Amino acid sequence: MNKFIKIQESIFVERCIVCGSRPIIEQVPGGKFIVRCKANADHYPSKPGMVDIDAWNRHNHKPGTDNDNIRHLKQG
Ligand SMILES: [Zn+2]
Repeated sequence: MNKFIKIQESIFVERCIVCGSRPIIEQVPGGKFIVRCKANADHYPSKPGMVDIDAWNRHNHKPGTDNDNIRHLKQG
């Protein structure tokens, strides 16, 4: 049975480009991790290995959205 790890609210992550869900970290066999959509495992998962939130963010970044502003606001 796979384990799911919630990504801390303080960490900036893009929402799933398909459905808008916040991603979660899933532990997969071999002690590896993937970052994937919480709602649907078929939406983009990062490659098994280290927790690669950057890969997730790159894949799910919507062109034209200004996430730097969001990041700034969240840091307060
Ligand atoms: Zn999704």
